[in-house]
Amino acid sequence: MAYKRVLLKLSGEFLSAENGFGISHEATTALAREIKAARDATGVELAIVVGAGNLWRGARNGEGMDPATADYMGMIATVMNAIALQDALEQAGQPTRVQTAITMSQVAEPYIRRRAIRHLEKGRVVIFGAGTGNPFFTTDTTATLRALEVGAEVVLMAKNKVDGVYSDDPRKNPDAYKIDSISHREVVARGLQVMDATALTLCQDKGLPLVVFDIFAEGNLVRLLSGEKVGTFISS
Ligand code: UDP
Repeated sequence: MAYKRVLLKLSGEFLSAENGFGISHEATTALAREIKAARDATGVELAIVVGAGNLWRGARNGEGMDPATADYMGMIATVMNAIALQDALEQAGQPTRVQTAITMSQVAEPYIRRRAIRHLEKGRVVIFGAGTGNPFFTTDTTATLRALEVGAEVVLMAKNKVDGVYSDDPRKNPDAYKIDSISHREVVARGLQVMDATALTLCQDKGLPLVVFDIFAEGNLVRLLSGEKVGTFISS
């Protein structure tokens, strides 16, 4: 087995139908199937951070609002996604806990680091909702932060139909090629799109590896967690 404990970052859009908005049962079910298959095949301990781009993004949707207020709405939106994903995972037979950085004890546990680790050890998937709990951050930063906190060996940056990091935008440049492995430093220097700059800097500072991969290619997550070369590997 390639990894013992990983953190999977899912963009909110993955939970929506084709139009990129809202939460689709079909989409959450498809994601849950891949995650359950990966758990069953490898026994990997899996934590998840989910975004909210399908529901609300502070900077985009909150125009005219106090930016901090808009960001709090974004964090709350991630909790809706976390609960929807929990529901799909549990329907697929995978025990799951949601922990939130903004307390809402009627719907989820509060984020407690040591408790999250205990859940992981017991084979439960743990979904971290409400981002970092702070405005002006993103769920990419949350993913990095939580990965470091729970001792995940890698952050898996899931993409939709993009199988890794490319030298340039392949839709615009026919000569763009896929990069198999690269350093954090080079990702920063070349301005390659992996995650936002704050999150990437934190990964670089802490030497936390990343894998950028396509979660919608069936079986890809299992292959990646079984040690096959999938996507782009980023390390220091
Ligand atoms: N957000 C925040 N602090 C955090 C994480 C998220 O304020 O620590 C807010 C922010 O408004 C962001 C929104 O939640 O736009 C949704 O997160 P993100 O844009 O990262 O979602 P994704 O693009 O991954 O779907």
